[in-house]
Amino acid sequence: MSGEQVVIAGAGHAGGSVAAFLRQYGHQGPITLVGDETIAPYQRPPLSKAWLKGEADAESLLLRPLDWYVEAGVDLRLGTGIEAIDRVGCSVRLSDGTSVAYDRLVLALGAKARRLDVPGSDLCHVGVLRSAADAEWLKPRLGPGERVAIIGGGYVGLEAAASARSLGAEVVVLERESRLLARVAAPMLSAFYLERHQAEGVVFVFGAEVRSIEGNGVRLATGEMIAADTVLVGIGALPNDALAREVGIACSDGVIVDSAARTSDPNIFAIGDMTYRPLPLFGRSLRLESVPSALEQAKQAAATICGTLPPAPEIPWFWSDQYDLKLQIAGLPLDCDQMVVRGDPRSGSFALFHLADRVVRAVEAVNAPGEFMAGRQFIARGTSIDTYRLADSTIPMKQVAATT
Ligand code: FAD
Repeated sequence: MSGEQVVIAGAGHAGGSVAAFLRQYGHQGPITLVGDETIAPYQRPPLSKAWLKGEADAESLLLRPLDWYVEAGVDLRLGTGIEAIDRVGCSVRLSDGTSVAYDRLVLALGAKARRLDVPGSDLCHVGVLRSAADAEWLKPRLGPGERVAIIGGGYVGLEAAASARSLGAEVVVLERESRLLARVAAPMLSAFYLERHQAEGVVFVFGAEVRSIEGNGVRLATGEMIAADTVLVGIGALPNDALAREVGIACSDGVIVDSAARTSDPNIFAIGDMTYRPLPLFGRSLRLESVPSALEQAKQAAATICGTLPPAPEIPWFWSDQYDLKLQIAGLPLDCDQMVVRGDPRSGSFALFHLADRVVRAVEAVNAPGEFMAGRQFIARGTSIDTYRLADSTIPMKQVAATT
């Protein structure tokens, strides 16, 4: 078992992490880690935050130093695409014309930025923010006086807006919905972030339908022209599941996996942003795009390949940094019937707890790490809670927890 040849397709956060967990859990067989980017596995979150603002260098993005791969006996093949999977012959075909055989294949191909299908979207001042190469393209375009239009008011767009403002650029965010973070945050949180971004000088257009992108900006369906030197499209991401679909591996919104990261093929695992994964604590499957989810699944796959039990399911969580605001979200606000506000948004530190039948199912905490940590525990425990005490920020979180 431990001498098996493991091939990891995709050298991103999930792929790099599963290689490390395999060695940590005792896998002694060969590991080949193949990625089409030319950089060793790195963290993407700083690309819209610290790195974009010049507060982190390229080396600090790397998950592990290059020496680690040599010492751990991981054959790292960068700048190499996976072109096809041969499920019968158990091998993958690479873009350099060679093939690599596997006993176990771990798909960790991530997601790709969704493109805007309008005339002009291929112009050279239009881009997305998914990779280090994208961030390299964007960074010099955010200096003082540069005019940036960001299409999409989701997390990546808003983080880029905050970074761009701190670098002195003029920023307009064009959002199709009537509020920011419409698919992923409570309306109160959307309103809080809108107010803060406006105070920082970001301009917003809601209900914005983009008709075309032109040399000097973005044309809306209303005919209005939004002047811009650079257009950043941040309208979500799509799973890189085409290779799996081609060979009949079961997919939904991404490759369908179980809680051990197994696909419908017993020799093939899938992890990270490309998966449609079960969330046992919430009784459903979803595709998540977050580092904690990628790490959890990397552990699941590594443990299963090494013949040990996968770790207990984790509460999904996520973070976002904008200006001096650290947002931390845990759980999923599905089927909730109550929201409890703790703290005052005007103070810049507060938390929103989402409950179903008085049981906390999700927490959105802004500059409130204690509330975030306690919220995660409430979600894991699944017991009902005294909502009056929860809302009373004069009662320390520990005492709220003690009464549940
Ligand atoms: P990726 O890291 O995207 O890695 C997939 C790799 O596979 C890539 O290198 C890709 O090029 C490669 N690949 C794809 N197809 C092929 C192929 N055919 N052959 C070879 N290689 C291939 N998450 C958080 O939790 N908090 C945050 O604050 C946060 N901020 C983010 C900010 C930005 C700008 C972005 C883009 C993402 C952010 N995320 C954040 C999400 C997080 O980075 C992802 O969830 C995480 O990177 C997922 O890891 P992954 O390995 O599944 O995908």
